[in-house]
Amino acid sequence: MSADEATFCDGVCYAKPCFEDSVNTQLQYLIELQKFDLRIFQILDQQKKIPGLLQAAEAPLRELQGRLQAMKHEGESLARQRKNAELELGSQEAQLQKVRARLSELKTNKEYQAHLFEIELARKKKDTFEEAVLALMERSDQNSQAIKELELQVEEAQKNFESEKAKLDKHAADLTNEIAQLDQEQKQISQSLEQSLLSRYNRLKTIRKGFAVAEIRDGSCIGCRLQLPPQLVAEVRRGDQLLDCSYCRRILYMANQLETESTE
Ligand SMILES: [Zn+2]
Repeated sequence: MSADEATFCDGVCYAKPCFEDSVNTQLQYLIELQKFDLRIFQILDQQKKIPGLLQAAEAPLRELQGRLQAMKHEGESLARQRKNAELELGSQEAQLQKVRARLSELKTNKEYQAHLFEIELARKKKDTFEEAVLALMERSDQNSQAIKELELQVEEAQKNFESEKAKLDKHAADLTNEIAQLDQEQKQISQSLEQSLLSRYNRLKTIRKGFAVAEIRDGSCIGCRLQLPPQLVAEVRRGDQLLDCSYCRRILYMANQLETESTE
């Protein structure tokens, strides 16, 4: 860059590499850039969670649908059982009539008594089938009622899921828009940074999930929370070069080095 291209400014400017750029100004660009990057990483994290949230929102609906399906299968099985029991009942009724009809053909009292016993047995058997049919009818009614109630619940769950999905879709779209905007703003600031510093920052950013520049507080790096050598702290305070944390390699600064508020 030549002096002709340079623009002079008293504060931070993101427009073009500034001739006046000091270590502190570069640092302020970095911190500004980091604000965008931290938000971008936050957004990427939120985006990753969306499929899981969608699944969780759909879970109650899936569960109710599963129960409804099982209930319908049970209803079909009950209908089949009832049909069989009704057939059995019909044939047992016919059998009873046949046995009764033979009563008039009997000659002796002994035969008559034995036959009455046979009629009683046939009647009991018929009663048993009748009870079975009634019990199956009752179970079918209960099943139909439960299906109706469950269908209402499924409908409700479907509505809830759709509204939840709409919210999540909107959230996902907002995040995508925000990230596009942040990318744009980030590019602008990047242009104000020295190329080698930008590369150094970008490398660190990838490793440290967007947290590449760290303040020194009470002699410790807030990135890794480790106590820094006093010599290093003193050098950072002097502010004539950008130095790394000895442990996590983040670029260090002190809040009082900067005129503006640096971290949020
Ligand atoms: Zn550190």
